[in-house]
Amino acid sequence: MRVWRAAIYANILILEATLAAFMPTMVDSFGRKVTGLRIALTPRCNLKCIYCHHEGEVKPQREISGEMVVSVARAAADLGVRSLKFTGGEPLLRSDLADLVSRIPRGLDISLTTNGILLEKQAMRLADAGLDRVNVSLDSLRPDVYSAITGCREGDLERVLAGIDAANSAGLVPIKLNVVVLKMNEAEVPQLIEFAREHGLILQLIELLDLHGLGVSGDIEAIERGLQAKADHVRTREMHRRKKYFLDGAEVEVVRPMDNTEFCANCTRLRVTSDGKIKPCLLRSDNLIEIGTCDCERIKELLQEANMRREPYFGKVLTPAKSKGS
Ligand code: SAM
Repeated sequence: MRVWRAAIYANILILEATLAAFMPTMVDSFGRKVTGLRIALTPRCNLKCIYCHHEGEVKPQREISGEMVVSVARAAADLGVRSLKFTGGEPLLRSDLADLVSRIPRGLDISLTTNGILLEKQAMRLADAGLDRVNVSLDSLRPDVYSAITGCREGDLERVLAGIDAANSAGLVPIKLNVVVLKMNEAEVPQLIEFAREHGLILQLIELLDLHGLGVSGDIEAIERGLQAKADHVRTREMHRRKKYFLDGAEVEVVRPMDNTEFCANCTRLRVTSDGKIKPCLLRSDNLIEIGTCDCERIKELLQEANMRREPYFGKVLTPAKSKGS
């Protein structure tokens, strides 16, 4: 069953790449294409992760309307964006989520990143509405560690695990398991790899963006060296030049943005904040563009303006003059 799913997914990727050659594309002044849009649907969350970057948002004032989300998605699709990711806060707290998903233009790959606590009940409805896949954030399989990181309520870890099973049953695959590598969970990485293998998940090990100066980052560099030594093979993804390690049937992707010029040089994203502003970079809040309208043509202009405000954050080596061309 999994082999079939993987084969179908690979064929979809090939088809998408072929179609992409004929689509309009936004290209910024550094020659970087925009193919993905990440929309925060709400600043509200049912966890309090110690490290949370809140998608780079500073005091959002209101919650983006469903109408605006759909209009932005349509405008982005017209400009060649191919994948849409909903985030938050916790996107499953939006009561209109399934309705929103059902109104997104077909042809976009629609995914969401969730802490999974409310996923069990919603997975099937979201799949029926047109959601393609989910990322589930789960930093530890140990109740005490999970609780220390997230401030969760009793029983939440079991709810997340049930949510992963429900997402698998609903066909929201491939499911990615997001793990931020911290001192508290770095020793657990082998168990998390085993868990991912058993459940057919892709494990994403994410470097901590230590915006609050917590000093709790795990040693992701050492972990990546270990993966490199054990991997049967390694692949490099186009986005952010992320490395994927394949070992004994497990798939592990390593996301290392910090001080990484390659990461920024290959960024293909624009973001929308939970209060309806276009955000060219996770780490900057001085170049946002207020959307303020549901007029699709106007939103296209604003997306193009935001695209031209994109600058590699860790990429002083890149200059517009040396861009890779369009
Ligand atoms: N509540 C949802 C969730 O848990 O996936 C969506 C919001 S959360 C901000 C999105 C992703 O950002 C999660 O995978 C989380 O682990 C990651 N994240 C949050 N703060 C981070 C940080 N400081 N460094 C790296 N990743 C972070």
